[in-house]
Amino acid sequence: MSGHLAVVGLGPGDGRWLTPEAAACLEAADAIYGYAAYLDRVPVREGQARHASDNREEGARAAAALHDAARGARVAIVSGGDPGVFAMAAAVCAEIEAGPASWRALDLAVLPGITAMLAVAARAGAPLGHDFCALSLSDNLKPWELIERRLDAAATAGFVIALYNPISRARPWQLGTALERLRRHLPAATPVVFGRAVGRADERVAVTTLGEADPAGADMATLIIVGSRETRIVTRPGGVPLVYTPRAAAEASS
Ligand code: SAH
Repeated sequence: MSGHLAVVGLGPGDGRWLTPEAAACLEAADAIYGYAAYLDRVPVREGQARHASDNREEGARAAAALHDAARGARVAIVSGGDPGVFAMAAAVCAEIEAGPASWRALDLAVLPGITAMLAVAARAGAPLGHDFCALSLSDNLKPWELIERRLDAAATAGFVIALYNPISRARPWQLGTALERLRRHLPAATPVVFGRAVGRADERVAVTTLGEADPAGADMATLIIVGSRETRIVTRPGGVPLVYTPRAAAEASS
């Protein structure tokens, strides 16, 4: 019997941002695999096996889930946000490519979720209203020089930039260096949004500028959006200012 593996996006926060498709899949699964902090967000159902693992063990976790599915089980493997954005879906695909032929015959579904960049953007207004890109600042899986090249290219091409994985205890200096790099290309008044734990009880959203942006305002649960030259801030009485990027490009190049 050929099993079933779903790679499920949990969204950035609580159940309100979990799709009905993802909720139904989690309910029906015989076994759920995932990083412990993500598994904690899935309601416990009796008779369902749960396999929590360390965040660094993506490949091993994907292989274990594939083994289980190949034995005929309905298996779900969970990611925060969307599973295809700096997350498990690519790890599962890599294991399928490298693994036994039977893994390619499995019924595989990737169930999308709301990625952090979209959740933070929604809280701030519409910073991603025009062309944008997403970059992970983690240099665990790629050299720092490549990250700097991509920051230069993105800023000079006029993209709004969403920065995932901005900082961690093991990577304390990368965000400060990245902001310095962006200051070479963009005016100090460029809007910057810090969105932390968006969609959860301890959510915090702050709007600042590139000149004032302070790396100390970010942690592992923060996503940062750096505007383009066209991104605007609209102050409002009370609450977070609106940040948006107009739908039409104002200049031929920025
Ligand atoms: N697959 C996830 C991203 C995993 S990388 C997604 O699609 O969102 C982990 C990074 O995502 C964190 O370092 C942070 O930059 C961002 N992130 C995840 N959840 C977040 C949230 N609720 N609020 C703000 N940023 C979040």
